[in-house]
Amino acid sequence: MQLFLDSRQARRFKGHHPWVLDTSIVEPASPIEPGSIVELVTTGGGWVGRGIYNPKSRIRVRLYQWQRDASLTDDWFRSQLDRAFDSRQRWISMHGPLDAIRWVNSEGDGLSGLIVEQYGDYVVVQWTALSMVRWESALTAWLAERLNPQGVLLRVDNGTAKAEGLEPRDDLIDGRLPESAIEIREGSVRLQVDLLRAQKSGYYLDQRTNRVRAAKWMSGGPMLDVCCYLGGFSLAAHHYARPSTITAIDSSASVLEQAKSNAQLNAAEIEFVKADCFECLSELASAGKRFATVVLDPPRLASHRGQVASALRAYHRLNLGAVNLLEPGGILVSCSCTGRVSRSDLVGVLAAVSHRTRRNIQILESTGADFDHPVSAQCPEGEYLKCLICRVE
Ligand code: SAH
Repeated sequence: MQLFLDSRQARRFKGHHPWVLDTSIVEPASPIEPGSIVELVTTGGGWVGRGIYNPKSRIRVRLYQWQRDASLTDDWFRSQLDRAFDSRQRWISMHGPLDAIRWVNSEGDGLSGLIVEQYGDYVVVQWTALSMVRWESALTAWLAERLNPQGVLLRVDNGTAKAEGLEPRDDLIDGRLPESAIEIREGSVRLQVDLLRAQKSGYYLDQRTNRVRAAKWMSGGPMLDVCCYLGGFSLAAHHYARPSTITAIDSSASVLEQAKSNAQLNAAEIEFVKADCFECLSELASAGKRFATVVLDPPRLASHRGQVASALRAYHRLNLGAVNLLEPGGILVSCSCTGRVSRSDLVGVLAAVSHRTRRNIQILESTGADFDHPVSAQCPEGEYLKCLICRVE
């Protein structure tokens, strides 16, 4: 089936970007079924690429192939999975095995809409696009063959469901459910991830090395971990820096319960506080608290362009609050997972905070997501995570 690209937009797709928005296509004269394979051509007849159509999504077509003589078969899908798998295997052969890993990272692995993570013997699949529906059984067969998991869970979160015209899903699609939380190791830290209660696919694997890198800069003074989730930054700090006290904050009671048992598992004494990150920093400052380290790892603060200005104000507020709590020479770990806020935007926020507080901020390390979250140069939107490890004079 052919679909026409608005010829004024054609030049933009020379770069093989996989997302074709509603504003770029000529809507078909007769309806095309959601999930159909389409060949995208220009109104002048020029070939653009092959992808999957979804009239319910603002991303009308996800492109997967740019060679005219290929086709979107199960074999092609499996070869993409193999490519993603082999690249992680190469890393593993150099660095050693991991018991939690992201095997497939959507656009970064040429499979827009698919995330596959493994936790111990279990696999969690997340669909972020309707296009993946077509390959559900090919995926379960490939997973059984390659990873031989005890069980495979499939998630479609409410946001994706709404944006893509899908049903939200939280299903077991193969094998059996885990009977308890899965224990994984991150360096020397032991973590239990309860796949049935977890946010997203389970754990924030993108921050894996950043937790350790940050901990290695910390001193033994008091630490504050803001938006702690299961306590990953706190536990890495406990292992490498032994802070005199650790205070960890999250707004979710269920998260804090899981974080508490992880603290016990690592014999770490952590004070967990249920609080809103925007409120708690100024409250701690008024109570006269000071810290040698503050980690800020808030959730995504903008999902579309219209929210960027308010996200930048929110980052400013959080980073200002954190700097005001830091002792001179303290470590600030400032993270942002908002794709629409760039690394230089975040540095700009720190510059503004430095100006306001008259404190020098030195960026010691500027990193992103870990190795199993590759980014496609054709789809730079995949590079969402920024982690700035700073010393604040
Ligand atoms: N630092 C974590 C990941 C953080 S994910 C790690 O290393 O794994 C973001 C966390 O922020 C989630 O646990 C979420 O529950 C929490 N959160 C969301 N909104 C919040 C708010 N307004 N105040 C405090 N925590 C919040």
